[in-house]
Amino acid sequence: MSKITISIHGGAGTILKADMTAELEAAYLEGLQLALNVGYAVLEEGGTATNAVKAAVVVLEDNILFNAGRGSVFTKKGVQEMDAAIMRGLDLEAGAVSGIRNIRNPVELAAEVMLNSNHVFLSGKGANDFAIKQGIKLEPDEYFYSQFRYDQWKALRDSDNYSLDHTHHHLEELMKDKKFGTVGAVACDDKGNIAAATSTGGMTNKKYGRIGDSPLIGSGTYANNKTCAISCTGHGEVFIKAVAAYDVSCLMEYKCMSLQEAMDYTVNKKLKSMEGEGGMIGVDAQGNYAMIFNSAGMYRGVRNNEGLNEVAIYG
Ligand code: ASP
Repeated sequence: MSKITISIHGGAGTILKADMTAELEAAYLEGLQLALNVGYAVLEEGGTATNAVKAAVVVLEDNILFNAGRGSVFTKKGVQEMDAAIMRGLDLEAGAVSGIRNIRNPVELAAEVMLNSNHVFLSGKGANDFAIKQGIKLEPDEYFYSQFRYDQWKALRDSDNYSLDHTHHHLEELMKDKKFGTVGAVACDDKGNIAAATSTGGMTNKKYGRIGDSPLIGSGTYANNKTCAISCTGHGEVFIKAVAAYDVSCLMEYKCMSLQEAMDYTVNKKLKSMEGEGGMIGVDAQGNYAMIFNSAGMYRGVRNNEGLNEVAIYG
């Protein structure tokens, strides 16, 4: 029997501690703990790592505070388009969706793609059609609305300041503004199988059908029993170019690094040198975990069957 472990994140690039009220901080920590508990319960009952990460991500998607599912950020056109992915380390099966709308739980659609479509990645209207055919739960636009995200978008919609290809100054403003609230989970079950899932509304004011790293297998999400399960959060464009999640797997597979060493290298050396702000969570098939970020904070948590049970926001 393997050590059972689950780790979750609710995004990096945290609002500054100075801007955080005690009430809001408590609400975030409570949301993280609930997701952790729900995912852990699946593992404790002998469930699979895949079902555990899915269950934890569903809880985070349903929580309006996080930028995934309900409470997703707005695009330039003022709508919410979401991306998600899930991957199973046992057999490298994976499912992903991008640019989807009105899907209550994008991670469930990603899992449906993995299990019941002969494909790995579906996008836009086609993905929505598949969701309807598979009986995935839909919600009206109002369900996803959050005043906080709407105000964030309103402050940006008439400018191009948000744009990622603009100066670093603007990017910093964007980070401070907490545009990165993606959610994710990684888990190791009692059979030593691991899995990863990530779900996001992407970046506020995104346009032209922009897709980040989150639903891209190997960039924002990856799982392989031989190495690790990884879910990323941060400046998606850089994570894509760094092939961040798979980079950790490669360092473990070809350079024999531990999970901790490999994640530390990718986040603090590789991504940092490319000005890729953010972080990632990971587990290996022995149930070891790591949560590493180069940003001010990362909403995160970890729980295992050796008594570890913690949630945190800042560094
Ligand atoms: N990585 C996500 C994206 O670029 C954003 C985030 O992590 O919050 O879409």
